[in-house]
Amino acid sequence: MKMLENRIIAEGRVLGEDILKVDSFLNHQIDPVLMQAIGREIARLFDHDRIDKIVTVETSGIAPAVFAAAELGVPVVFAKKKAAITMTDENYVADVYSFTKKETNHIIIDKKFLNAAERILLVDDFLANGQAVNGLLEITDAAGANVVGAAVVIEKAFQPGHEILEQRGIRLESLAKISDFKDGQVVFAK
Ligand code: 5GP
Repeated sequence: MKMLENRIIAEGRVLGEDILKVDSFLNHQIDPVLMQAIGREIARLFDHDRIDKIVTVETSGIAPAVFAAAELGVPVVFAKKKAAITMTDENYVADVYSFTKKETNHIIIDKKFLNAAERILLVDDFLANGQAVNGLLEITDAAGANVVGAAVVIEKAFQPGHEILEQRGIRLESLAKISDFKDGQVVFAK
């Protein structure tokens, strides 16, 4: 998505080996015009997939998920992050290790918001090592829901997250796909 790539080039900052900071439009300040375009693009890509619900993780997945859901006319459920929690009768819980924060969190979704056989689209801001997606898949599996695709705003394709989706045969759409960081600059996949 050209508009998104241009914003990444203009405003993104590469930190260290593998982190891209995009807090001026996605991770802290949010640009609603760009987010609406992202939502429309995700909706266009999954228009024929009879999506029942979008599932994401708080916090940064919520904005693109909501804009896409508004276009598709479906609800959004976001997994909540908790430092520590045990499984209860009311909640699905999964572990998510954050390589950026070097800590394990739990994500939880109330059982009443996921139903068996629902057609789910996963949406998130970044796909990196795939821990967040893996946690969401654990939860949707436990609910017996059917994940028909995943849409991420930015994929860092040099990290292994995409393999988790490939192994499960889940279609992945990345609106910006980064193949590398070279001398502090973003290189997009062809
Ligand atoms: P994962 O490694 O599980 O695929 O990524 C989990 C989460 O870490 C993403 O949803 C995102 O919030 C955050 N993250 C991973 N890599 C980056 C990055 O390069 N930049 C930013 N801003 N967040 C990242």
